[in-house]
Amino acid sequence: MAELGGRILTPDGWISGTVEFGEKIAAVRAGAEGGRDRTILPGFVDLHVPGGGGGDVMQGDAAIRQCAALHARHGTTSFLATTITAPADDIAAAVAAIAAIAGDRKPGEARILGAHLEGPYLNPERLGAQPPFAQAPDLAFIAGLCARAPVRLVTLAPECDPGHALIKDLAARGVAVQIGHSAAGYDETVQALADGARGFTHLYNAMSPLQHRAPGVVGAALAHGDYAALIPDLVHVAPGAILAALRAVPHLYFVTDATAAAGMPDGDYPLGRHTVSKRGGSVFLADGTLAGSALTMDQALRNLVSIGVDMADAARRLSTYPADFIGAGDRGRITAGAYADFAVVDADLQVVQVVVEGETAYAA
Ligand SMILES: [Zn+2]
Repeated sequence: MAELGGRILTPDGWISGTVEFGEKIAAVRAGAEGGRDRTILPGFVDLHVPGGGGGDVMQGDAAIRQCAALHARHGTTSFLATTITAPADDIAAAVAAIAAIAGDRKPGEARILGAHLEGPYLNPERLGAQPPFAQAPDLAFIAGLCARAPVRLVTLAPECDPGHALIKDLAARGVAVQIGHSAAGYDETVQALADGARGFTHLYNAMSPLQHRAPGVVGAALAHGDYAALIPDLVHVAPGAILAALRAVPHLYFVTDATAAAGMPDGDYPLGRHTVSKRGGSVFLADGTLAGSALTMDQALRNLVSIGVDMADAARRLSTYPADFIGAGDRGRITAGAYADFAVVDADLQVVQVVVEGETAYAA
């Protein structure tokens, strides 16, 4: 049984003490170990990861492992490998690779909990940096993927899903549905929530905005959303809009939407069938469109604290809430019985140690 001591964020708040663990947490105890200059947070759970460390999820096995290793070094202990809009065969191949790696984690890697399909059932007018392969919903194709792989989350545009048949089908399968890359109006979005959609993908970005006589997808999210994901790189969304969403959406949670460029120097990287360029911390298409991010979850934590978000609240929105959103209640919290997934940070919120399922995946 291993042990870590420090200031610990538990579901009931901060304690000073120790956590005792094997693959799972055996006990969390208040006591004398406190006072060390380190803080033990639940390992981050990132539900939107197209890449990292030079690896693009669409490129398959080796690239997905590069991505799993890069994000582990930044405190992410589990994540959803995210496919982007592409021809169906490309998506099927990537999902097969994700399924294989999800069941075969190597030392130093974060655990893949399954796949997030971002598209291809998106509004062609709202693709942002998604490659131009938007398609009409194909329920048989999705059923095939779900039979072969742990598909946990699908991002789609409800206005492109006649009768919301795919939303209803996914909800019945227990797959979480988020609204994104969408030009839907407010009423259509509210109906999509009633039909089984439960969240919003990169809130504010690539969706119809809130206007006071046309509230759009954003207005529906702020008025009715229980969950929504947001990219807190402070480039995709201005701090004030993050604070507004925090007031409105009870379980707002944070993702990186990291591309292969995350953790890498400036240069060109693949994003599915696109090539993207990293310049000065952000990632762009040739025409200047933002193309995912170069964000990591530890930087997300530092960004949120820098704009005034309480640290415990920020940490939960990077771990507990996303885990709960996909029904992974045994992740994202430091409590007996949960997986021993920890991000240990110093006083400057720099990652000093990462534990994945009881194994030290990274130590500074
Ligand atoms: Zn997107």
